[in-house]
Amino acid sequence: MTKIGLEIHCQLTKLESKLFCKCKADYRNHPPNSNICPICVGLPGSLPMLNKKAVEKAAMISLALGCKIPEKISFFRKNYFYPDLPKNFQITQYNAYGPTSIGSEGRVEIQNNEIRIRRIQLEEDPGRLIYEGSSEKTLITLVDYNRAGTPLVEIVTEPDFETPKQVRIFLNVLSDLVENIGVSDPYLEGALRVDGNISVGDGNRVEIKNVGSFRDIEKALHFEITRQQSLLGRNIPVQGETRHWDEARKITVSSRSKEEEQDYRYIPEVDIPVVIIDAITIATLQRQMPESIVARKESYVKKYGISTQVADVLASDKFYSDLFEKAHNEANAKEVANIITTDLMGFADTREKKIELKLTAKHLSDLVDAIMSNKITRNSGKIALQEIVKTGKSLSEVISSLDLGHVKDEGSLEKIIDEVFKEEQKAVSEAKQNDDAVNYLVGKVMRKTKGKADPSTTIEIVRKKLSS
Ligand SMILES: [Zn+2]
Repeated sequence: MTKIGLEIHCQLTKLESKLFCKCKADYRNHPPNSNICPICVGLPGSLPMLNKKAVEKAAMISLALGCKIPEKISFFRKNYFYPDLPKNFQITQYNAYGPTSIGSEGRVEIQNNEIRIRRIQLEEDPGRLIYEGSSEKTLITLVDYNRAGTPLVEIVTEPDFETPKQVRIFLNVLSDLVENIGVSDPYLEGALRVDGNISVGDGNRVEIKNVGSFRDIEKALHFEITRQQSLLGRNIPVQGETRHWDEARKITVSSRSKEEEQDYRYIPEVDIPVVIIDAITIATLQRQMPESIVARKESYVKKYGISTQVADVLASDKFYSDLFEKAHNEANAKEVANIITTDLMGFADTREKKIELKLTAKHLSDLVDAIMSNKITRNSGKIALQEIVKTGKSLSEVISSLDLGHVKDEGSLEKIIDEVFKEEQKAVSEAKQNDDAVNYLVGKVMRKTKGKADPSTTIEIVRKKLSS
C-alpha cells in the first residue's frame, strides 16, 4: 500500500510587512538585498517584533482547514546552517511539548476521502540562493535576503493520500481555499510550495523536495512509486532519504541523508512572548471569513439551478466567481455561469491571461442578454466574446464591426436555403425520410451564414420547403 503525506509552504502574500520586522512582505521586484533590515538578517542586538496580522491570517487558514487553535501559541528556533538563513536558525513553531502551533488536528474532505491535517505552523521564509547555471555544477552561488523573514505557513498532512491524483486534487482545493479567504495569491511564483513524503509497502519513507509545481509533484510521486516498487520487487530495501526532483530529467535523485528532528536542536524563542488567542479573537476571525467554496457552490445550485458540475468549477475560481457575482441577475444567472465556464475559461485559464482580459461584468451581462433575447446566436456570441476580451470594445460596437447580427429577414434566409437545397440534392431527398439529414441541411445553412441565421427560423423554413 502506498502512503503519501505532504508539507505545503504557503506564503501570506496579502500582508504588508514581514513576520518580525517592517520590511515589505512583497519581496519580489526589488534589487537584491535591498528589502532587508537588521532584524531579518539577524544582526546581533536586533529583536523580532511579531506581526499580529500574520497570526490572524495563519489562524484563518487553521479555521478553514478545520484545525484546533490553542489558547496560547509560541515560537521556537530551528537551528541549521545554510547560506539562505542568515541567523543560522529559523523562527518557527514546534509541537513536541504540546500543541502551541497555530493549528492542529484538522480535516479536509476531498471526493469522499478524509485528509487529516497534522499541524499548521507560522514561520519565516529563508532567503533565496541563486545559482549560475545548474545548482550541481555551478561555481558561483548568489544570496538574496529580500525574502528572508517573509511570513510563511507550513501545513503538514498525515500520510492519508494513496495516489498522486488525490494529491493533485487536494492541492487544487487548498490553492482555491487560500485564495478565497484572501491570505495568499497562489499564482505568484513560489507562493505555494510542496514537499512530499512517500512509502510503498513496508519500505522506508522517502522525502521529495525541490518540486517546482503541482504538476511536477504528481510526476515525482509517480516516479517514486515505480522506483520503490521496482526495488522492493528485487528485494532491495528502500533507503529512508531525501530526494530532489530533477525537473529536466523528470526523475528524483538522492540528495543527502535525511536530517533527524534532533539535528535541528529546537529551543524556545525567548525573544517572542507567548501569544494568547482568546475566544473573542477567534469569533471575530470567523466572522471575517468569506463564504466557503462549498457553501458558494451549494448556493449556485439551489438559487439559480446551475448544474453541480458548472457550480463546482465556477465556485472554486475566485476570479471568475467574483465576475459572476457582478454580472448576473436572477434571470440570466444560469447562462452567465455557462458562458464563463465553457467559453471564457477556455480563453483565459491562467492568472496572466485572466489579468489581460479586457472584459467587464457589463460586457458579460450585455452579451448574455443579447443571446437570451435572440439578438445574436450563441455562435456569434462566442466570436463577440473573443473580440471583447482582446479589445474591450462594447458589445454593440463588436456586433456591427464584425457583422454578427442575425440574418433576420426571411427573404434573404430563404435565398440561402434555396442555394443549399440546390447544392445538397441527395441530402434533401434523404431529409424527407430521415430527421438527421434535416440537421445536416440546417448545419449547411449555418455555415453559409457564418452562424448568423436564427436556428429556429432556419429549421422552420427548411421543414416547410421539405414538405412542399
Ligand atoms: Zn527586515
